[in-house]
Amino acid sequence: MSISVPRRQLFIDGEWKEPLQRKRIPIINPATEASIGDIPAATAEDVDIAVDAARRALTRNRGSEWARASGAQRAKYLRAIAAKITERKPELAKLEAIDCGKPLDEAAWDVDDVAGCFEYYADLAEALDGKQRAPISLPMETFKSYVLKEPIGVVGLITPWNYPLLMATWKVAPCLAAGCTAILKPSELASVTCLELADICREVGLPPGVLNILTGFGPEAGAPLASHPLVDKIAFTGSTETGRKIMTAAAQIVKPVSLELGGKSPIIVFEDVDIEKAVEWALFGCFWTNGQICSATSRLLVHEDIANEFIEKLVIWAKSIKISDPFEEGCRLGPVVSAGQYEKVNKFISIAKSEGATILCGGGRPQHLGRGFFIEPTIIAGVNTSMQVWREEIFGPVLCIKTFKTEDEAIEIANDTHYGLGGAVLSKDAGRCQRITEALQAGIVWVNCSQPCFSQAPWGGTKRSGFGRELGEWGLENYLNVKQVTEYI
Ligand code: NAD
Repeated sequence: MSISVPRRQLFIDGEWKEPLQRKRIPIINPATEASIGDIPAATAEDVDIAVDAARRALTRNRGSEWARASGAQRAKYLRAIAAKITERKPELAKLEAIDCGKPLDEAAWDVDDVAGCFEYYADLAEALDGKQRAPISLPMETFKSYVLKEPIGVVGLITPWNYPLLMATWKVAPCLAAGCTAILKPSELASVTCLELADICREVGLPPGVLNILTGFGPEAGAPLASHPLVDKIAFTGSTETGRKIMTAAAQIVKPVSLELGGKSPIIVFEDVDIEKAVEWALFGCFWTNGQICSATSRLLVHEDIANEFIEKLVIWAKSIKISDPFEEGCRLGPVVSAGQYEKVNKFISIAKSEGATILCGGGRPQHLGRGFFIEPTIIAGVNTSMQVWREEIFGPVLCIKTFKTEDEAIEIANDTHYGLGGAVLSKDAGRCQRITEALQAGIVWVNCSQPCFSQAPWGGTKRSGFGRELGEWGLENYLNVKQVTEYI
């Protein structure tokens, strides 16, 4: 399918601005490896200009008064953005699919989620007005206390490529709802739809400087944002390695950060499950978005009593997943996002082979596809818990399997990881599900499913998967300072 990708500039202070160094980054269609356009590459000087614009937009200086506008006023803009996103859904879905390799249907669902998320935070922005000055009960009558919730200020939002527009929205929507202004730095591997978000902000007349969008490389555009003295907070989603760098930079000026990082989440399948349903959830939990999901349940623990039957079905079904160009009818799996990611995933598979693991299916490029960063859905058994494929985040279509005998053993293996993002348990025994839910060291637990996600429910990890919560009311709190006010009466 031919789609033309608009040629955009950086979005600063409500206008398109060429990056000062005039550098651009090619956009590669991962399904064909062809260059389909380019995006601007910001550097530290552009970051300075954007931060200045965001600071001016925050306060009364230029009359935009974003921080002091009522929640209801801000909500109007969020709703207008949601409406435009819905209006431009077909185009946004195509751009997302061609930019990051997602099947077109999936990309269209993401766009619905994006619009829903803006609508949801419009509701919360309105509700915030009614929550101000909530009284605190004190033990002395001579004093009265209440709480003001105030925007943190100018926030740097740094996001990954796996859900380019959705991950940006999880930050932009609550950040603006809270009254903060922002500089968004999407991933250099997939920024196209975020630049369209800039265009939408322009169309709906969002006050200049409230949201600035700078595309560019991490070290050149992300790092100066993370260490900028006039940025009040960094909200980051990406790898644990980059999260560590951002935390280090922010620590120098005691800047708050929230970090949504990597994962290696377990899915525990007990012997009492409906095997077909469990196979479906296991496949969905690991291969959705090509396994390029932070919470992908990529470590499968299956009870030994059903292991043979379960694994046999799992492999047959995995082999039947349609892998093709994202625009082809019925595509379930597109390419991985980039040449770098393709090499990285294949390297993990080779290491697994050399360490003696058994590749039950997949393990390479699908024979019918000559070009593009395609990798077959790969299922690996015969692993032990010290192998790299079991321990490290692969972020690709690779599922590793181990069997277990007892509930305690399953919990021990599931928690034996530095990560703590998600986890899933499949069983008909409600008591057992409850015990496993409480025992799993994770920020999100799915019971008899894997991966469903709602704007209303908190999202985030424990351990090296990060801290802070996005989505729901927790997502709004990420961008609010709590001010205590106490009066002597
Ligand atoms: P990444 O860490 O390579 O990059 C993320 C962002 O950080 C990009 O915008 C990048 O340009 C920027 N960046 C890179 N170096 C930087 C630096 N030194 N300073 C500031 N910014 C810098 O991650 P990725 O490859 O884009 O995304 C995949 C990772 O994201 C996986 O580990 C995945 O688990 C994680 N992720 C987590 C969640 C979650 O909710 N926990 C969601 C999606 C993705």
